[in-house]
Amino acid sequence: MSLDELVLHLQHVVDRLVRRVRLGPPPQSGRRRVLIVQFDGVSRSVLEQALANERTPFLKQLLGQHDYRMQPMSAGLPTSTPAFQMAMMYGIQPDIPGFHYHDKRRRKDIHFPRAGHAASVEEEQARGRPGIVTNGSTYGCVFTGGALNSLFTFTMLKRPTGAGLLRALSAFVVLAWVIVKSMVLTAAELVRALLRFLADPAGERARGWRWFAIKIGTSVWVRELFTLAVSRDLYAGVPVIYVNYFDYDLFAHAYGPRHRRAFRALHRLDYSLEQLWRVLRRVPEHRYDLYLLSDHGQVDSTPYQRLSGGKPFERLFFEQFFPSLAPRQAGPAHPQRRGLASGIKAIRHDLEPGVFQRFVNYLEQGFPWALGELPEAREDHGVRVVSGGPYAFVYFLDSEQPLTLTQIDERSPGLADEISRSRGIGCVLTRTDDGPICLWRGKAYRLSDDEPGPFAGREDRALVLQGIRDLMAMPCAGDLVIYGNDSADGNVSYIPESGAHGGPSSEEMQTFIVHPPGVNLPSPIIHPTQLYPHFLAYQEP
Ligand SMILES: [Zn+2]
Repeated sequence: MSLDELVLHLQHVVDRLVRRVRLGPPPQSGRRRVLIVQFDGVSRSVLEQALANERTPFLKQLLGQHDYRMQPMSAGLPTSTPAFQMAMMYGIQPDIPGFHYHDKRRRKDIHFPRAGHAASVEEEQARGRPGIVTNGSTYGCVFTGGALNSLFTFTMLKRPTGAGLLRALSAFVVLAWVIVKSMVLTAAELVRALLRFLADPAGERARGWRWFAIKIGTSVWVRELFTLAVSRDLYAGVPVIYVNYFDYDLFAHAYGPRHRRAFRALHRLDYSLEQLWRVLRRVPEHRYDLYLLSDHGQVDSTPYQRLSGGKPFERLFFEQFFPSLAPRQAGPAHPQRRGLASGIKAIRHDLEPGVFQRFVNYLEQGFPWALGELPEAREDHGVRVVSGGPYAFVYFLDSEQPLTLTQIDERSPGLADEISRSRGIGCVLTRTDDGPICLWRGKAYRLSDDEPGPFAGREDRALVLQGIRDLMAMPCAGDLVIYGNDSADGNVSYIPESGAHGGPSSEEMQTFIVHPPGVNLPSPIIHPTQLYPHFLAYQEP
């Protein structure tokens, strides 16, 4: 028996005691339950490479000895976690064009890591539809999917009633163990970081302590916390559990999707999956079905600032395309930077109280990967530019509705065309009365089968073209949608990162779902909305 198991066993004993004191009956047996594990940001081709190179030995065993099946899945557009999860959890085609965008009607930016943004988007767009995680738990997800428990309920620690206290104790056993174990692993990481620093002082210093703190936080503490919390839920028979591990995504953004550090992160996730599997085997009476999926992939990318002499896209945009505008300070769009970055600063400088709670809130709202450099938006003379990855949005704020190309040309003649010919630009999408068109190196394409433009060589062409139609039907997608994919300078991201997603490359769009033998999923899966009825069925008794 491993130490983890011993701790969980102890926790189980406390749990039984709690139930005896009277906290409700044991979980009803008989119904099928579901555990959904998401490996954020892993494309199908990266997973295949990992399997071939023995980086995910447990998954290989699952697919071999245990007869699990891997089915290809297309994430649709945009290739972004919130869009994927909204579609899968609620079965709707969401109005979520990216991780960071502007809502013209509400006159505000949505950036998912910011407090409250995910909650308000979920409430507005789900509109009371039942989510697939109703009565369950979510960990690390953007939305709750109707879960009772997201992340880890700390309210039980705040309201200490008699029975609640016992339950808190039960949770505390898990929490205490996570802390002890994570401390040891953190110490190991510190030693490794020191060795790396000695080998390459300049490179490691450039990344800085903040990156290091985030890395330790996600790759050790959060993963351990999620794995043990999910294990605890499995023992307790929670009907639906959705856990999103985002370590791989974080490392792939920083180093590139096929960098050895990204693969190492994937290897650690494979180990977490194995731990969960062992717990599942111990509670066959709960009849869990285990699924593993990914929400999108990543593509190797060149940061735009490397092409522009260090200037961010949203700034160069105004200098290059609106040179006639009187130069004036287009201030940063969001003076208040919130989240973990400021939280850590606070710890560093004056140990601000409540910082731990802010860390927790932060994780509930979004993801730490955005912590390095928060993507900026700029606004001048009624035009707003938001850079979010290998995509950037341009909004004309004088109209609440999305504009057509004709309307944009009235305001700024030839703008879309000029952007499409510029350095570091893949293509520009815009709307017309007859559907979206794509401007690619100064030429316009209808994006039909006869005029696929930049997507001509794609095997999954029909999926990209449909994805673009879906995206441009979203009111919140920019009046112009700029893609950095396949520019003359390679794949370009408008935020500083070596791996990117949000765009239409097949690496970003093509993912997978692994399911148990005997389960029938829709086939082919060309959009995550198709998963909704399948997982909603687990809600029926
Ligand atoms: Zn990401």
